[in-house]
Amino acid sequence: MTEFEQRRRSISHRLKELKVDGLLVSSPANVQYLTGFTGSNGLILLTAEESHFFTDPRYALVALTNITGKVHIAKKALLEESAALIKRKHIKRLGFEPSWMKVKEHQELEEKLSVGFRLIPAGGVVEDLRSIKSPSEILRIRKSVMINSEAYYRTMKKIKIGLREQEIAAELDFQMRVLGAEKPAFETIVATGANSALPHAHPGPKKLEANELLLVDMGATADGYTSDMTRVTFTGMPGKKTREMYDAVLEAQLAAISQVRGGVSTKKVDGAAREVLKSYSLEKAFVHSTGHGLGLEIHESPRIAKTDKTKLQTGMVITIEPGVYLEGMGGVRIEDTVLVTQTGCEVLTPTPKEFVYLA
Ligand code: ZN
Ligand code: ZN
Repeated sequence: MTEFEQRRRSISHRLKELKVDGLLVSSPANVQYLTGFTGSNGLILLTAEESHFFTDPRYALVALTNITGKVHIAKKALLEESAALIKRKHIKRLGFEPSWMKVKEHQELEEKLSVGFRLIPAGGVVEDLRSIKSPSEILRIRKSVMINSEAYYRTMKKIKIGLREQEIAAELDFQMRVLGAEKPAFETIVATGANSALPHAHPGPKKLEANELLLVDMGATADGYTSDMTRVTFTGMPGKKTREMYDAVLEAQLAAISQVRGGVSTKKVDGAAREVLKSYSLEKAFVHSTGHGLGLEIHESPRIAKTDKTKLQTGMVITIEPGVYLEGMGGVRIEDTVLVTQTGCEVLTPTPKEFVYLA
């Protein structure tokens, strides 16, 4: 059995407990996870026994060659085709992904299937399975992480005062692709000076100056899998306040990492980072959560956050990324991609974390 078949089998086995006799999967990342399909138009219907994949004629060859289970090349809209099958199979309770089905699609299905038919929201089913990575997925994430760190290393060697944020971002993206990434996993963040105080800064025309912070947050997508890393350097000799801010964030990041282990709540990991920043009176400047899962998508479950009750499990891959942002002065965030193991964790990101002063 292929890994895709195993995954679909796991979902099919859960249908009874979800009290549905079919599940319609329309999230592109979930479709990719269950079939390997990366085209723009795919839909899956899973029943307890069967797997049906729908796509349009543009993808006929790739789907018929690569996807096991039943493959339907639809002449009409995929949802319409699936409705005909749902009718034929006498599916009465159909689970769907509420975050992905449009209101219009929901209405169409109800109209087409009316008598005795019910649509049941069943979100997060595939996402839960996706949160635990298989050995082959972990290999791909490792590769993505290595490409990402190497692209950062190569770019930093070329950093000069006077380069624009957008030029540095373009170089990072270029290096990722040269090293084999399909694309950046998200819009690369390069923020200099006071711009680094914005957690989601867009690289702009501002030039890198002497004696300021340079924050880079980047990720690669390689073999479909993502990575995520943030590093902060300084052009010159940082003052005492900047060094303190950096040390506090690094201490918070290491404290959070030291809590990561299978069975530990994500809340506890988040709390460890917050506790350290509190001791520096910087907790109010930490305005986001400590991290997130990643995989096919850059943001996946679990969330590593204050109010989250999820327990970490072996095989999850998460980020640990506390940050401190002081308006007018700048921000520091340090982020690694981390694999959860039974006894602790493995920090996958190889890039060093001591404060680098660029000459
Ligand atoms: Zn990031
Ligand atoms: Zn992140």
